[in-house]
Amino acid sequence: SDNLFSALRAAFPSDLDQIAVEAASASGEPLLYTWRDLDRASARIANLLASLKLPEGSRIAVQVEKSVEAMLLYLATLRAGYVFLPLNTAYQSAEIEYFVGNAEPAVVVCTPGNFSWVSRIAFTAGTQHVFTLGDDRTGTLLERAAHFGDEHAPAVRKADDLAAILYTSGTTGRSKGAMLTHGNLLSNARVLKDYWGWKPGDVLIHALPIFHVHGLFVAIHGALINGSRMIWMAKFDPKAAIAAMQRATVFMGVPTLYVRMLAEPALTKAAVSHMRLFISGSAPLLIETFKEWQDRTGHTILERYGMSETIMLTSNPCTADARHGGQSERRGGTVGFALPGVGLRVVDDAGKEVPVGEIGNIQVRGPNVFKGYWRMPEKTKEEFSTDGWFKTGDVGEVDERGYVSIVGRSKDLIISGGYNVYPAEIEGYINEMPGVAESALVGVPHPDFGEVGVAVVIPRPGVALDGEAIIAQLKSQLANFKIPKRCFVATELPRNTMGKVQKNLLREQYKGLFA
Ligand code: ATP
Ligand code: MG
Repeated sequence: SDNLFSALRAAFPSDLDQIAVEAASASGEPLLYTWRDLDRASARIANLLASLKLPEGSRIAVQVEKSVEAMLLYLATLRAGYVFLPLNTAYQSAEIEYFVGNAEPAVVVCTPGNFSWVSRIAFTAGTQHVFTLGDDRTGTLLERAAHFGDEHAPAVRKADDLAAILYTSGTTGRSKGAMLTHGNLLSNARVLKDYWGWKPGDVLIHALPIFHVHGLFVAIHGALINGSRMIWMAKFDPKAAIAAMQRATVFMGVPTLYVRMLAEPALTKAAVSHMRLFISGSAPLLIETFKEWQDRTGHTILERYGMSETIMLTSNPCTADARHGGQSERRGGTVGFALPGVGLRVVDDAGKEVPVGEIGNIQVRGPNVFKGYWRMPEKTKEEFSTDGWFKTGDVGEVDERGYVSIVGRSKDLIISGGYNVYPAEIEGYINEMPGVAESALVGVPHPDFGEVGVAVVIPRPGVALDGEAIIAQLKSQLANFKIPKRCFVATELPRNTMGKVQKNLLREQYKGLFA
């Protein structure tokens, strides 16, 4: 059987009484889970799910706070052969109504506090079963599962069978459900285990939400398939994360987590002396953050790139990459090389491959690429080229050394007076100006140019910035068509929970400026 759970289970250490997960209760009491605990608890939940006699391919939709039991529910869903469908904990009733109506899950699991409104939405959508799961082992899911045995033979699944549907973050528009198979997830987990040099004794700090690729797949699969212990943090706390580094070797974070840790005086070379690897992804890591981290800790963050539809696509090298002449440099501002087994090409708008070093649309293929968008056959067809490559929607380049850089998303590209303006280029110049913490450039409608750029700039704490002065400085550096027509100074950029800047909100806010 190609059930992903079986592969993860096979990687458990032979001594099942070792600690697999080190968590803490809400009041800070240590909560330890052995590998045997993971095996038995996921079996009980899998037996409960199996007892419901759900049709094959049933979706198990889950909107709960992060907890080890929530991860066990994920493992149990794989084990029982159903399709896991995690939902962002921030979603409110209108969003849950959309996702539950769209996915038609057979089972919905929500927090005890949300039961009254979530169950109403679920039953209206035809869901048969609603369970609750609190972050403190409360709720009906575990109560019911406690009546079942702690052994379960994993359901037989083929590599091509669905394992999960992940809704995309909705950064560029309405979220789409990406259908991922057991084979997609397992192939990517195996490649990353090797490429990131996971070794015996590695310990992962798990500080990310688990409704998204990064925390759910990259982090959890990474630790489990290496038989590695996780230090589990229900919520990211920079002080606690730094303290945990004494006992850990691997950390995975979105860029904002690194920024928050850099604000802690406790982040020193001594504090990270036990660490082997820091990984960043989900959003671009600012080169300043990359450099500051190097200065403060002596470690070079490894940036990688991926998406809900494909899991991981590229990564900076962990050690020398023989496929690229033994290069081992982790280059800030790049997302590294296409992972082994992943095909990556850069094409122009006509679909023709562009020369090395030129910017274009990134397309990919490989065993990690998803099956399609849930119930969107037309959209799925549009997003694949006629020769079978997936259009990522990201714009970037591959340099002569093989390093991939992302310069933005095709939807964020600004076409001003017929010229392409890549926001990341202009943002890079603005970010280097003194007193600037970060910036975002968006295109808004303009009667003469079609579109023009508008910059939103965030100052460093205590600094007063002048938008006009920033524009004047850009004029001395860049071609006129790249210069934003207006530059606003603001206190923060709108971000979603994964730390991604929501440019659609900025475009909406400024769309009337020149109308
Ligand atoms: P939607 O598709 O709904 O608009 P989304 O693309 O943000 O939302 P995800 O699948 O969660 O949803 O995110 C994938 C995207 O995140 C990639 O397409 C890319 O734009 C961005 N991304 C991920 N890692 C990196 C990185 N290291 N650098 C730059 N961008 C990254
Ligand atoms: Mg996307």
